[in-house]
Amino acid sequence: MGEAKRRGSLEARTQDEFARLRAALPDSVTCNNCGAELREIRPIDVQAMEGMRAAGVAVCTSCSHDTWAVDGTPDALREFQQFLEEEHGGAAVSSGIARKPT
Ligand SMILES: [Zn+2]
Repeated sequence: MGEAKRRGSLEARTQDEFARLRAALPDSVTCNNCGAELREIRPIDVQAMEGMRAAGVAVCTSCSHDTWAVDGTPDALREFQQFLEEEHGGAAVSSGIARKPT
C-alpha cells in the first residue's frame, strides 16, 4: 500500500539530487595532469562534510588522472584535500558520497 509509489518518488528524488549536485559544479574542469578539458564531472554528495558546498570528480579520457572540482569554505576545502590524500577519494567515487575522514 503506497510502497511502490514511495519507491518511485525516491528514484525521482535521487535523479533530482544528482541534477542538483551536478548543477553546483562547473561545466568543465582542466585535467591536473595533462591539461585536457574534461566535461564529464561526476558529482559527489558532500552533505556529511561541514562547509562543503559541492564536489565532483572528472576522470581524464587521455591519461586516466582524477581531477576534483570542489567548492566550500577554506576550512572545508583543507579538510577535503586531506580526505583525498588519505585516499578516501576512490571510496567516495564508488559510493557517490564523501564521508568525513575518521
Ligand atoms: Zn589528463
